[in-house]
Amino acid sequence: MSAEATNPEAHPEARPELRRRGRSRIDLRRLGRAALLGPTSRDRLPDAIGHVAEAHRAHHPDADMSILRRAYLLAESSHRGQMRKSGEPYITHPLAVTLILAELGAETTTLTASLLHDTVEDTDVTLDQVRAEFGDEVCFIVDGVTKVEKIDYGAAAEPETFRKMLVATGNDVRVMSIKLADRLHNMRTLGVMRPEKQARIAKVTRDVLIPLAERLGVQALKTELEDLVFAILHPDEYESTRALIAAHAGERDPLPGIADSVRTVLREAGISAEVQVRPRHFVSVHRIARSRGELRGSDFGRILVLVGENADCYGVLGELHTCFTPVVSEFKDFIATPKFNLYQSLHTAVATPEGYVAEVIVRTRQMHRVAEAGVVALGNPYATATPDAAADPDEERVDPTRPGWLSRLLDWQQSAPDPDTFWTVLRAELAQDREITVFRADGGTLGLPAGASCIDAAYAQHGEAAHGCIGARVNGRLTSLSSALSDGDTVQLLLAQDASSGPAAEWLDHARTPAARIAISSWLETHPDRAMATTTAARAPLSVVGARGGGANAVADLPDATVRLAGCCTPVPPDAVAGFLVRGGAVTVHRIHCAAVAQMRAVGRTSVAVHWRATADCRVTLLAESFGRPHLLADLTEAIAHEGVEVVSATVEPPVEGRVRHTYTLQLPDAAGLPALMRAMRDVPGVYDVSRA
Ligand code: MN
Repeated sequence: MSAEATNPEAHPEARPELRRRGRSRIDLRRLGRAALLGPTSRDRLPDAIGHVAEAHRAHHPDADMSILRRAYLLAESSHRGQMRKSGEPYITHPLAVTLILAELGAETTTLTASLLHDTVEDTDVTLDQVRAEFGDEVCFIVDGVTKVEKIDYGAAAEPETFRKMLVATGNDVRVMSIKLADRLHNMRTLGVMRPEKQARIAKVTRDVLIPLAERLGVQALKTELEDLVFAILHPDEYESTRALIAAHAGERDPLPGIADSVRTVLREAGISAEVQVRPRHFVSVHRIARSRGELRGSDFGRILVLVGENADCYGVLGELHTCFTPVVSEFKDFIATPKFNLYQSLHTAVATPEGYVAEVIVRTRQMHRVAEAGVVALGNPYATATPDAAADPDEERVDPTRPGWLSRLLDWQQSAPDPDTFWTVLRAELAQDREITVFRADGGTLGLPAGASCIDAAYAQHGEAAHGCIGARVNGRLTSLSSALSDGDTVQLLLAQDASSGPAAEWLDHARTPAARIAISSWLETHPDRAMATTTAARAPLSVVGARGGGANAVADLPDATVRLAGCCTPVPPDAVAGFLVRGGAVTVHRIHCAAVAQMRAVGRTSVAVHWRATADCRVTLLAESFGRPHLLADLTEAIAHEGVEVVSATVEPPVEGRVRHTYTLQLPDAAGLPALMRAMRDVPGVYDVSRA
């Protein structure tokens, strides 16, 4: 890695093993040279844009290339003289980004905007000029990308940043597609950056962009981003995985032979199909190695069967399960119940007479296109929907620019009481990689995260009307709202006719989806009377509002209660907080998402409502992640002292893979100084992330 950092020429050829095998990639140096030479003649497409046009024509034979040529000419002339950090002409970047999107099958408007994506930010070109020359749509997308660029990602854990990003891109996923391709090219060429900058960018990519690529269903971008992040953040594990793959390359690979047998079986059954061996990407090999301990030759790739029609998929499956020994537990039908991100395929695994187990994926060519390119492949979102799709207004796939989950995210971000709540629930949501499907008793289905309860189903189905939910039937039986749902359950929700009923605070313990959590929290916030009685403040910068025991005498007044800020989660304003009465009449205050809160509620402890007073000093625990170097500790504590902040305690963990984690408990004179403090710490050389513990 360090060799690459000192040698700008090393990229983009560096880490050639990271390139996805089996996909053509155009030599960016050639693009660079062609770009340097500039447009060759008035009539001929310049070489550089020619590659993009070629890739575009492969997916859209009738596309109008003249608009791409005009966009290229404007981008090339306005970026002329600007250089990338690698020393290449700047235009190679928008070209490479556009090529990535063209290879995925993006339509002309997206490609036009992609060529121009950095012009408004970095050159004299104005949005008005883009609108005048390329129309409203291109202008709208370029504007969105520019807004996203202006948001400083900083540390991944800054909620407001991500919220802004979603707002900037939320109107149109084509903005997000360009952002993802932009990030992919920047990650490919990250070798020229300082190591701490590489790590910082890699972390944001891991925390924000990879989950979004997954959500948008852009598998091709997601897997490559995952490998690039893996190489930067886990260099040792990356190296051992590379060694595993290299060793495997020297041995006999059983998969081509198995693919041949599959071809023979399908030919004899009269099913026309294309059978390929698809190597797994590095992260996938690493995951399998971790879960299975030892890898066999058939674990390094999967067999992909492509057919014409949906029905053929099941035909192939029947033949496979007849002629080989199926591993039944591996069978999954993502055609009948597609994943949230539009992905459809049949997954199975078969054992061969030699004892190998090969994973097999069966899909149509259209499903393959969507699996690889997700929303990027869905064409012009403003084109008239097919009559089929238009018939069902609930169908999430009607509007590819606003897939259902994205619409929901945007709704939550509007209704979330504060950025921190939004961020916490969003991270939890993005971290979930599995969804279950439950059937509504009145028809239709609900996609929910694994572990979701009837409460989640209620909010997913009824929105705010779920506040009046009083019970549920699961598979016909009456059950409590807190019951967890399983894949394939049928759920019927019972709503009170009486409008006065509302959620109980305990619902939060059983709600996993952001929609439910935010709706319940907001409701409780606006109905403090429901659970709480009012009283006044204590010593800490908090007002204890009071408490009501479940059915017992409610503690009416706590005017003299001593308030302690819990050491486990160190709440600071404006965190959402909950207090608990402890022995001696004191109140311990936790952040609302602290695990201790859930635990105490689980054992039946009633919380006391507490509110922050205007301003006050505060105590906070921060984690600083950095590369180890001499004087780092001294520099960090100096930066902290410079902000007028007192260090209460500090711990430094032993370095792991050359990285060090510092934990500081700090006393701030004013909670409002926290963002500036975190920025100052992040600016210390070697530090790549600072976050709240
Ligand atoms: Mn860019």
